[in-house]
Parts: sequence; C-alpha cells; structure tokens
Amino acid sequence: MVRQIHFLISVFVLSIVIPLFALEKQSMPDHLSNSTVLILLGPPGSGKGTQAKRLAVDYQIPQISTGDLFREHMASGTDIGNQAKKYIESGSLVPDEIVLSMLFDRIEKPDCKNGYLLDGFPRTEVQAEQLSKHKSMNTSVLVLCLDVPDEEIIKRAEARLVCRQCGAIYNRLISPPKDNGVCAKCGGEVYRRTDDDPEVVKKRLTVYRTLTQPLIEYYHSRGLLEHFDGSRLPDAVHHDLRQSIDQRSNRQ
Ligand SMILES: [Zn+2]
Repeated sequence: MVRQIHFLISVFVLSIVIPLFALEKQSMPDHLSNSTVLILLGPPGSGKGTQAKRLAVDYQIPQISTGDLFREHMASGTDIGNQAKKYIESGSLVPDEIVLSMLFDRIEKPDCKNGYLLDGFPRTEVQAEQLSKHKSMNTSVLVLCLDVPDEEIIKRAEARLVCRQCGAIYNRLISPPKDNGVCAKCGGEVYRRTDDDPEVVKKRLTVYRTLTQPLIEYYHSRGLLEHFDGSRLPDAVHHDLRQSIDQRSNRQ
C-alpha cells in the first residue's frame, strides 16, 4: 500500500516537473547560427509590431523601425533629425536619401553584427533596391510577410479601444474595459481613435497595397520572401515565423 502511494506520488510529481522543463527550454532565447537580416512586411494592423518585438527578444537582435529612429534623432537634435523635421513639420514625406543615411548609420552599430530586424522598412521597391547595396544584405536575408485580409484588419480596428491617458489597448469584443469607457489601469477615458475608423483604415490599406505589392514581388523573385497567415492568433503566427527563421538560419 505504502509503495503504491509512493509510486502515485512520483508519477504525480513527474507529471508536473517534466512539462516545466519543456517550458523552460522553449522560453530560452535562441541564437541565429549566422548573421541574419529579418524584414517584416504586412499591412498596418496585421500584428507586425507585436511579432517584431517577440522575434527581437527570441533571437537577441535589435528591432529597428525608421519611425523610432526619426523620433530619437529629432529628440537629440542631430543633423539628420533637423533635416527630417523640416519635412515632417510641413507634412511631406522624408526623402529616401535621408531615411537611408539614418538607417545605414544605425545598422552599422556593433549590436547589428549578428543581424537585425527591420519593422516598417523598406516601404517601396526603390528603398529595397537601395537597402540591397548595404553589406549586411550579403548575409542571410529573410522577408517575412504577414497576410491578413482587409476585412479582418477593418474588423480588428473597429474593435480596438485605447485609453486616452495611459495608452492601454482594449478590444471591444474580447477584452472590453470592465467599467464601460473607463480604463482599468489608470481610470482614464477609453475611446476609439479616429485612425481606426473603417474609412480611414481602408484608405491606409489602399496606400499600403499600392506601394507594397511591387516590394513583395521584388523579394519574391529573389527567393527571399515567405508568406504567413497573419489572421490567426499571435502565438500560432509566432510559432511559424520562428520555424522559418530557424530553417533559413541553419541552412546558410
Ligand atoms: Zn489608462
């Protein structure tokens, strides 16, 4: 009887300990076996930012967004920042030469020597052509394209609520704020941004498709592009992205 109880206890303990080990292993940061440049493409609202953050942590590589770089340069008043500011303040697009010189400066920093992840760049075929001249592009390059149908993006935007005060994000359908219209974290007002209005989202998607379609073909024809169904849950998308990156990184 006592032996039976011992046996049952050990089975019970092992059934808890073994999955814990498995979890531990999964959450360990992975390392790319070769310097790899990852480029994430996908329409606004496809979950690109979320995936970029997770991959940057997984592979210990910097996540580089030209939007963030501009903000940093403008805040610290560098030459590039001052040049860019003129265009941004007048509401026009920053010319490619400025964007590229800022980007090249960033990807030559030592933390990029094992690779880096570009999020939101390039946006056009011309930019992709320019980027291809950088020496880091001679290593392994993988372009990850998140495909999400327009209707799904519009649906996501319609459901998104944001706290005016702390920026917390809620979903009207999945995770609505408990007190109607009040943020659970800070008590601020929760509202839908005009950016998320269906008409605004549709316009943004049209611009994206027009600019990005040639870019997708550009990378596809060079055998660098892989498509992912981005309409699934974030964990499922993340899993598939990692699998492709690991395969590509080990193949080189
Ligand atoms: Zn809040």
